[in-house]
Amino acid sequence: QQVVNRIAAGEVIHRPVSALKEMLENSLDAGSSSISVQAKGGGLKLLQIHDNGHGISREDFPKVCERFATSKLREYGDLEHIETFGFRGEALASISHVAHVTITSMTEGATCAYRACYADGQLTAARAGEEAEPKACAGTRGTQIVVEDMFYNVLARRNAMKSGAEEYAKLLQVMQAYAIDNAGVAMSCKKQGEASSDLHTLKEHSTVDIIRSIYGSALAKELVPLKGEEATIGLQVCGQLSNANFSAKKLTFHLFINKRLVESSVLRRTLEEVYAAYLPKGGHPFVYLSIRLPPESLDVNVHPTKREVNFLHKEEVLAAVQQFARDALISENT
Ligand code: ADP
Ligand code: MG
Repeated sequence: QQVVNRIAAGEVIHRPVSALKEMLENSLDAGSSSISVQAKGGGLKLLQIHDNGHGISREDFPKVCERFATSKLREYGDLEHIETFGFRGEALASISHVAHVTITSMTEGATCAYRACYADGQLTAARAGEEAEPKACAGTRGTQIVVEDMFYNVLARRNAMKSGAEEYAKLLQVMQAYAIDNAGVAMSCKKQGEASSDLHTLKEHSTVDIIRSIYGSALAKELVPLKGEEATIGLQVCGQLSNANFSAKKLTFHLFINKRLVESSVLRRTLEEVYAAYLPKGGHPFVYLSIRLPPESLDVNVHPTKREVNFLHKEEVLAAVQQFARDALISENT
């Protein structure tokens, strides 16, 4: 059974970046205004995330790494969320099946923090001979999760990772994307032991400030805001895109739907077409879109590592986004 669990977990947690994305969403769900990440060996040796969110209470410690343990199933809307965003209450459990997990957390108003270790979905002793239970320790409000030796027990997955540098690049990309979509939350990312961060945003940074800090001022000064809504299908869109003066080497498209980082190849193509008409020389645009849609009109691929999303009202969504993008680019030019 344990082997089956590990293989299943290795499917969900495909590489360090899949673990990071889940933990990052948990930190955001916990209402954090500051999140920092450190990695070693591209997150395979160590992946650590620290937030200042609402924390995990002493009673909840035994549950967090159990399968299907979620504190987020409160209302019917969340049930729809389960169907649309694949899996719930499985992330930390899956991570604990393929790595050593240590959680330290303190809730608001608690007298101290607690720390516990997990393996294979359960609390485990930090050292041989010790009790497998949370231990009181000093701390501040929030949660720190340390994930070590990822895939130590699934060597096939471990061997599939090409290099730490490549894995780290993926971690950083996901942190950058979430930083852009979460102005108001300070985020940082660095390799453990390095003095300087590769991403460092402040709480007071605007979305444009954040894009500038990641991509530089050449892009930031050519950004135009995009905004629009299509009430008939409950669509709201806002974002930032580069105008005709900006030509990067590579196309960049950050797409968030209902605050989750996803991909949509049809939407990507639609935007490429808009730019092809607008930039005959074939510039490579930067587009960041944050879309709100009723969860029941979204379909996310059943496989949790695939982020491709399908729209129920595909034609309407594409037509609306195309129009908003054109409007934004045209108003910039007149
Ligand atoms: P889900 O997010 O779908 O509920 P997870 O496996 O990702 O499932 O997390 C399990 C539970 O652990 C969450 O429901 C939440 O109660 C708790 N949790 C995880 N990370 C954090 C965090 N950073 N801050 C507070 N609570 C957390
Ligand atoms: Mg989660």
